[in-house]
Amino acid sequence: MKPVSVNLRSVPEMPDLRNFLRESEKIGDVFKVSREVSVKFEASALIKRLEAEAIVYLEKIRESDFPVVAGVCGRRERVLRALGAGEAEFYSRLLGALQSPVKAERGEDGPVKEVKEAPDLRRLPILTHYEGDGGPYITSALVSARSLDGRVENVSIHRLQVLDNRRLAIRLVPRHLYQLHQSAKEAHRALDVVISIGVHPALSLAASSPAPFGVSEYDVANALLGGGLKLVRGESVEAYAPAEAEIVLEGRLLPGEEVEEGPFVDLTETYDAVRRQPVVEVVKVFRREKPLYQALQPGGCEHRLLMGMAREAKIWEAVRNVVPVVKAVNLTVGGCGWLHAVIAAEKQTDGDAKNIILAAFAAHPSLKHVTVVDPDIDVHNPREVEWALATRFQADKDLVVIPRARGSTLDPSGDQKEGLTAKMGFDATVPRTLPKEKFSKAKIPGEEETCRRFLGEAGR
Ligand code: MN
Repeated sequence: MKPVSVNLRSVPEMPDLRNFLRESEKIGDVFKVSREVSVKFEASALIKRLEAEAIVYLEKIRESDFPVVAGVCGRRERVLRALGAGEAEFYSRLLGALQSPVKAERGEDGPVKEVKEAPDLRRLPILTHYEGDGGPYITSALVSARSLDGRVENVSIHRLQVLDNRRLAIRLVPRHLYQLHQSAKEAHRALDVVISIGVHPALSLAASSPAPFGVSEYDVANALLGGGLKLVRGESVEAYAPAEAEIVLEGRLLPGEEVEEGPFVDLTETYDAVRRQPVVEVVKVFRREKPLYQALQPGGCEHRLLMGMAREAKIWEAVRNVVPVVKAVNLTVGGCGWLHAVIAAEKQTDGDAKNIILAAFAAHPSLKHVTVVDPDIDVHNPREVEWALATRFQADKDLVVIPRARGSTLDPSGDQKEGLTAKMGFDATVPRTLPKEKFSKAKIPGEEETCRRFLGEAGR
C-alpha cells in the first residue's frame, strides 16, 4: 500500500508491517540482503545471526518470487517502538488492553485482497530452519477462527508444517483454538480458519498474549494500537483477517484427519516431540500484489520475546500485589524467554523478596528460576544481575527451593512426562538490617561528563 497522501494528522498511517518496516529503515533498524538466499537453512542461518541487531529483509529468494522479512519483534526496544510505549508503561498498556479490548472494525475489502488466487503453498518462501526439522514450516502466521455459533473469536500463532501444496499440519497446544476445534469435531464439522502472514507487531504480541477464552486477540491488538485496526471477512470461510496483512490463506481445520507433526525446534532451541496433530486444508489465497512473507526463527530472540513479554506483564501484576513498586520484570532471552525471570522491586520488609518469588511462580507456572533484585539493578543487564548475586546473596538464607512443582514440559532437564520440575528463587536484595552503603557501587565524581568531554560519542 502506498502511504496516504491526505492530511496525515487526521489519517494516521495504517498499523501494518510495511509502514513499520519503513519507519524502522529510517533509523537503520533493517538489514537488507540483496544476494539470492535459499529457504533451506540459508535464510535461517542469516536470521539467527542478525535478528537481534536489525530486522532481516531477504530481498531475493531462490525458490520464490516473494521476499522474506524476519525478526520483526527480535528486540525488546523494537516491540516497544511499534507500540509507542516506554518500558515503564508497557505492562499497564498491555494489561489495560487485555482487560478492556476495543472492537476492531470489520469489513469486506482491504489491501490484502489485491490478488485472489487458488492455493499453491509451493509459491511461498516457507523456510526449513534446522537440520532435524520435519520439513518446511510457516512459523509466524496468525490463525484466526470463530466458534460455530460465531460468539467466540480466537487469534493465535501456531506452527504449520507443509504436507503438500494445499495441506498443512497444525500444532494445537490444548488452549483456545484446540477448544474451538474440539467443539467443531463433536459436531462433525470442519472449523473455518484464516491464516494471516505479515502483520504489525501489535498483532503478533496480542496473539501471543494470555487473553482469556472468549476475548478476541484482534480486539486486544486494536486496544494496544489505540484503535484503527481493520479486519476483512474471508472470501470462502467464516473468519476474519487483518485488512493490512500481506498474505492470507483461507482454510478448513478438518475434523477427522491427523498426521505426525514435527520434529520441530521450540523455545528452548531443542526438539519438541513428534505428535499426531490435525490438518488444515487451504481452499483459497488472497494477498497483496507484491507481498512480504514474514518468518520467525524458532528458539530465536523474537520467538522468546513474543512468548515472554506478555507473561512479564502477568508477573508484574502479581508482584504488585506483594509490594507497591515493581520497577521491571525480565523473562531473560538466555532463559528462553520463558523459564528464567529477574524482578526488580522495592521491598518494604526483608520477607517481601521471598513473597515476590512465590507470587512470580504462581503468576507464570512455567517459571523455573527467579532472581529478585533491588531497583538499582538493571534487570536487562546479565552482568549487573550476576553482580547482585555475587555481592547481595547468601545461599543459606536467601535461597528458596521448591521440589517437584508443576513446570514447563519444554525443559529437557525436568520430568517432561509428569510436567514436574524443581523451582528455585534467589533473594539478591540488600538486607534492611545491614548498612546500605556497604552494598552501593563506588562512584567517580563527574564520570559521565568527563568521558563525554574527553572521548565524545566514542566514550559512550
Ligand atoms: Mn485466545
